[in-house]
Amino acid sequence: MKNFATVSLAVLALASPALGDGKGKGKEDGKGKGKGGGHTPPKPLVSSKTLQADVSLKALRSHAEKLQSIATANGGNRVFGSAGHNSTVDWIYNTIKATGHYNVYKQPFTEIYSEGSSSLSVNGEDINSIIMTYSPSGTATGAEIVPVSNLGCTAADYPADVAGKIALIKRGECNFGAKSLNAHAAGAVGALIYNNIEGTITGTLGEASDDFAPVSSITLADGEKIIALIAEGPVTADFAVHSLSEERVNYNVIAETKEGDHDNVLVVGAHSDSVKAGAGINDDGSGSIGILEVALNLPKYKINNAVRFGWWGAEEFGKLGSYYYVRQINQTESELAKMRAYLNFDMVSSFYLI
Ligand SMILES: [Zn+2]
Repeated sequence: MKNFATVSLAVLALASPALGDGKGKGKEDGKGKGKGGGHTPPKPLVSSKTLQADVSLKALRSHAEKLQSIATANGGNRVFGSAGHNSTVDWIYNTIKATGHYNVYKQPFTEIYSEGSSSLSVNGEDINSIIMTYSPSGTATGAEIVPVSNLGCTAADYPADVAGKIALIKRGECNFGAKSLNAHAAGAVGALIYNNIEGTITGTLGEASDDFAPVSSITLADGEKIIALIAEGPVTADFAVHSLSEERVNYNVIAETKEGDHDNVLVVGAHSDSVKAGAGINDDGSGSIGILEVALNLPKYKINNAVRFGWWGAEEFGKLGSYYYVRQINQTESELAKMRAYLNFDMVSSFYLI
């Protein structure tokens, strides 16, 4: 709860005072309003304390359960471009729209979605391997594994006899995409990148390309084990990468208060998608529902600055939704100038009771 209170606090610290130069603003003191029969009394100016008090655990729990039920109904996740994420987007859009206090729209954008699996057997022994995001599919059966020189960041690191074989490359110096490109250019039918520290690697090639070799990661210990085996003689592997890469339409949800100064806007955001591996209730369900609850309570108050809430899509694939939004905003200098501050909320809940 402390963290959710912090959400409100941070929002209000900027929403309450005028963010512009103040000229011509803040003159509406409410006098003269609400005196006639049947008129609504003027709303109080938003304050951090009162808005924090409006954010209830009950509401947050209800929103979290909603996101979980969306994931449960859609294969256990809310990953970008999936039915689970589209339902999340619709729920946020409809919930915020129903208040009547926001101008709301869904902003579509298209990006490449990728997922897949990897299997590896070295000299007949199964070794855990993890597909790199955006790796192409490929199969190599009984293919020799050839270590490359240095860290595989230049073409010269790849021996001529890697052609038709699997390149074994250590992590470091250049990105995974560069290593995969070099392996493919050298004619390798696949590439294994082993870690340079303990633990597994969940990596990405950064983008889809026909010039990548199929690539998966293995641990440092497994990489060194294979190198030790190669010192004794040729090592062969069965290596398979099955991947799916396809264009998917995804959505940002943007909601701006009807009230407030639209030339001096406070922007508040969180990403609405989860990873494929889970429902994403903390990452970033917590941020999404945290700012949603602030947005639902904010209309009780008078505000000086307009507040724009953004729920970004495809964050887990490289902040794609927010980048798309920023690219559109940057096309218009006047629109960019209206944004006075941005606050981002990613994983604001806690696993611990406090
Ligand atoms: Zn996140």
